Amino acid sequence: IYKLLPRTNCKKCGYPTCLAFAMALASKKVELAACPDVSEEAKEKLSQEARPPITTVTFGAEERRVTCGGETVLFRHEKTFLHPTCIAMTVSAQDSPENIRNRCNRIRRLQFERVGESVSIDAVVLQSDGGHPERFNRASSEITVSLDLPLILHSPDIDEIKSALTISKNKKPLVWGVGDGDEKAWAELAKSENVPIVVSGSTLEAVAEKTAFFEQVGVKEIVIDPAIGARKSATVEELTIIRRMAILKNSRQLGYPVLVFANAETKAGRLAFAAAAICKYASILVLDDIEPEFILPLITLRFNLYTDPQKPIMMEPGVYEVGAPGPDAPLIVTTNFSLTYFSVKPEVEAAKVPARILLTDSEGMSVLTAWAADKFSSSSVTKALTESQLADKLSHRKVIIPGLVASLSGELEEESGWQVIVGPREASSLPKFLRTVWKG
Ligand code: SF4
Repeated sequence: IYKLLPRTNCKKCGYPTCLAFAMALASKKVELAACPDVSEEAKEKLSQEARPPITTVTFGAEERRVTCGGETVLFRHEKTFLHPTCIAMTVSAQDSPENIRNRCNRIRRLQFERVGESVSIDAVVLQSDGGHPERFNRASSEITVSLDLPLILHSPDIDEIKSALTISKNKKPLVWGVGDGDEKAWAELAKSENVPIVVSGSTLEAVAEKTAFFEQVGVKEIVIDPAIGARKSATVEELTIIRRMAILKNSRQLGYPVLVFANAETKAGRLAFAAAAICKYASILVLDDIEPEFILPLITLRFNLYTDPQKPIMMEPGVYEVGAPGPDAPLIVTTNFSLTYFSVKPEVEAAKVPARILLTDSEGMSVLTAWAADKFSSSSVTKALTESQLADKLSHRKVIIPGLVASLSGELEEESGWQVIVGPREASSLPKFLRTVWKG
């Protein structure tokens, strides 16, 4: 790697020398793009070295683009998982235009709020058995009009895919349809239309052989569909083997994002498989089931799994207003752990008492954890009160602290000069507390 770098030690990459940069690149701690002066020839040669063990693949247009793969570890606690499992919902091209529109509307309504973030379905899979290019084309334009989501075009009929690409090519759909023996035509299509492609195989060896072929002919963006045998979807064991081969054995042929279809016979079976597939390495999860109660637990599981364990999910410290609080409104102090804030805020809203919530800098820890780590103490609360300059805005000097840290009250009163009111232990008791204790 070092020999292919400019070797000027210019430091523009943030490393003191080209050798240091080369070593960081070899251990995949940095991207080659961080060196602005590397030649095109070197880029080509080094792209293999710089490639993560699982290739990164993107599809969809700019705003709603899906990125999958790029993972470098087997377990989240080793570092982090980078790209959350893409949840894709099927739409049948065989359906009437009206049914397609209705299904698109239901997909659009699958929006959930999780810890202050809006989460929804990531992509749509347009499915067909083949033989009707015009119908496939119509269905894909219907979806494009109805939904602003990346498309996965799924058909064994290359003419159907070509037909849909005439209208959706600019949105870079993922193409899924390669069978046995027709790889050459699909590879040509992927290259000429510059779209990523899903490669299926009836055994892992067959998948590996096919990805080697696609790579060799110049198709770079590949997703694996290990549709083993007649089951039409991989087992969790097979998904684990693929990830282990890519990460531990550096298998280039299996080092791609993996697409799976939750197709167990019962709804409970599909839900169980989908949850396991999110935990065990599915990059794209295709679902037929559209009910919110089916999707919500999966989205929540994914949300929890794909947070960086080294970075607690936290809010910016500071004052957050609920309603339009006046100078006499209550002031509640708590930590800046996102879950804490998003537990407290709806309860304050439910109380219908305009209030201010002051979040201290507790490094994203919850109340008791922060208190035990001395990150939510009389000093840190006093500091937050001072920095907030709330003393200038309020007509009172009262602060409500979480009941869990009632023991802070004496010390905090002394240190801050504010009157401390011990609030409830649970956020759920805040409405009653604000309406009775505060107002009373
Ligand atoms: S930016 Fe490139 S040339 Fe400069 S030190 Fe880094 S690797 Fe070397």
